[in-house]
Parts: sequence; C-alpha cells; structure tokens
Amino acid sequence: MTAAALLRHPRDKYFIATKCSNQNGRKTLKEGQDMFENSLSVFRTDHIDYYLLHILSSEQNFKERFLDNGLLDWLMEQRSQGRIRNLGFSFHGERPGFDAILAWHEKVHWDFVQIQMNYLDWKHSDQASSRPDRKAVNAEYLYGQLAAREIPVVIMEPMLGGRLAKLAQGPVTRLKSREPERSAASWAFRFCGTFPKVLTILSGMTYMEHLQDNIKSLSGFQPLSEDDLAFLEDTALQILNFPTVPCTSCQYCMPCPYGLDIPGIFAHYNRCVNEDHIPQDAMSPGYRESRRAYLVSYARSIPRERRADHCVGCGECLMHCPQGIDIPGQMRKIDRYSEKLKKNP
Ligand code: SF4
Ligand code: SF4
Repeated sequence: MTAAALLRHPRDKYFIATKCSNQNGRKTLKEGQDMFENSLSVFRTDHIDYYLLHILSSEQNFKERFLDNGLLDWLMEQRSQGRIRNLGFSFHGERPGFDAILAWHEKVHWDFVQIQMNYLDWKHSDQASSRPDRKAVNAEYLYGQLAAREIPVVIMEPMLGGRLAKLAQGPVTRLKSREPERSAASWAFRFCGTFPKVLTILSGMTYMEHLQDNIKSLSGFQPLSEDDLAFLEDTALQILNFPTVPCTSCQYCMPCPYGLDIPGIFAHYNRCVNEDHIPQDAMSPGYRESRRAYLVSYARSIPRERRADHCVGCGECLMHCPQGIDIPGQMRKIDRYSEKLKKNP
C-alpha cells in the first residue's frame, strides 16, 4: 500500500528507508541478498535511499549476521553501484558493542546511524529503561561519538515510545508554565532537532493532530537554548521520579504463557499514576476516592485471571521487551500495591 501511494510521485521527491533484519535463523548471504532484492521489488524501484543493518547489539551479533557471511561486503558493493544510496545501522545494545561496530567506520564508511535519543535517554538511559541489569547507553554518548566522526544521526524513539507525549500532570504543568502554547511532544521534538548532526527524527503518528503538532514543532525551527536544555534536564529528573512503567503497548511480550494481560496491566497502572489515583497510604488526602478509582478501573479493565497476581516470574517475556522493562518485577510491585489497597478500605 505504501509503495502504491509513493508511486504516484516522481522518485526523486521522496526517500525510501528500509532494513535488512537477517536474523532468527536467517543469516546466510543468500537470505540477506533476497531481502534486499525483495525490498526493491516491493517498492518497484532500482535503489533504496537509506538501507539499515537492523538491530545491531554487539560485535558478535554484527559478525554473525553481516560480516562472516559476506553480506556487508555485498551491500557495500550495491552501494558503489548506486543501488543503495546510504548504508547504516540501527543500534540497540550496550556500549562495547557500539564502540566495536563504530570502529568499522574506517572500512565501511557508515553513511548514517540510527540511535534511540530523547531528553530522558540523553543522560538517564539506565533509569529510563527501568531494568537495572541492562547497561543502556546514554544518548549523549552515542550522539557524541557519531558527531565526532561526522556521521549523520537518525533518531528513533524521540518520544520514548510515546511516554514523553503522555506525561503525568506534574511534568505537563511544568512544561506548560514555560511555554503554554507548546505541547509536551513539541518539547521532545525540539530537543532532538537542536543537535546539528541529526539528519531526521522518526516519529510514529497515528492521528492527523499528531502530524499537525509535529509540523508545527519543527516549522520555523529554533534550536533550544542552553537554558531550555537545562530546564528539560530538570524535567527529565522530575519524570523519572514519577513511577510510571515505560510500556508502549507494543505487545511484543505477548502472549504470556500464564495468561497475563501485560500491556493492559501496565496501561491501567500508568493511567492511575497519571490521574493521581495512587494513594501512598490510608492517611493520604482523597485516599477513599483514589483507592476506589484504582480498584474499580483494575476490575473493569483486566479480567481476574489475567491480573498481576498470576505472574509466576518465569521471565519468558523479558527478552521480548524493547523497552527493557523488568516485567515480572513490575508485576510483583503492582500486585503488592493492589493487595495493599484491597486490605485497607
Ligand atoms: S514473567 Fe510473568 S508476565 Fe512474564 S511471561 Fe512469565 S508469567 Fe508472564
Ligand atoms: S514488550 Fe514491553 S513495551 Fe511492549 S507491551 Fe510488553 S511490556 Fe509493554
């Protein structure tokens, strides 16, 4: 459908970016070549503008999927023939992997690199991912290394999976007090746009108003000032103190073998945090109303047998979560909290 829409326009009026996943048992040269040829055929074009080695996470992963099978050499050949205009990779791992893959720049000449960057991940990626065992790399480091090598940067997750567009009331009030006309999402976009090596910012847009807000945020663009950046850093610290779970409802962790509605439970919990229905204890102001709102919403949105108390901690879901959420740990926390509320009317 995308191809059909694009074909109505001259080929030099748009860019096509796509990726070579080449994983999960498909790691041969032939399979990688087929993937690329298939992309050309789907888009009915003779070249791809931005071609990514998808989800690189470590040197070993890079070697297995692209080096040892000769696929990277073949892709570089396609680039020299003009069938790939820009060759890059997207990164989702820890610092040693990033450093090792970037060291190949001298040989490969990466035309661009796609990284997760937003004002929370800039300095606080460990806390933003909410999983202590994962040494997520701060975007400040990733961006700095790329900028030092003059490599253009493509940003994914500028909204941290939508989290920075759906902030709790406290941070929203703070952002609005500085610029009442601007949305929370606009701050996140303008943060990314402030850095000169940023080539493009990928944004998921579901509704027309998202598109309009994004256009407004970047039209007549003014980079944020040093003062604005310091203000956003303080906002990031405030956001990190709000205990929402950074679940984007992507459903990659589903189905849970024990039947839990993982994204549904997190959505309910986050909604209650954002609406201020998480009373700390029975002496908190508005305890009765908040307790009732929390328990009624939980009962209505999640069937009994799919709630957090059914988590056995098997860890099946962990490896699938792109946000690095400690799902069983969060389930225990939510269950303990729900039980506490039930026992204290
Ligand atoms: S750890 Fe819990 S939520 Fe995750 S798959 Fe196992 S039972 Fe389901
Ligand atoms: S994979 Fe992670 S982010 Fe996606 S729905 Fe599951 S918990 Fe949420």
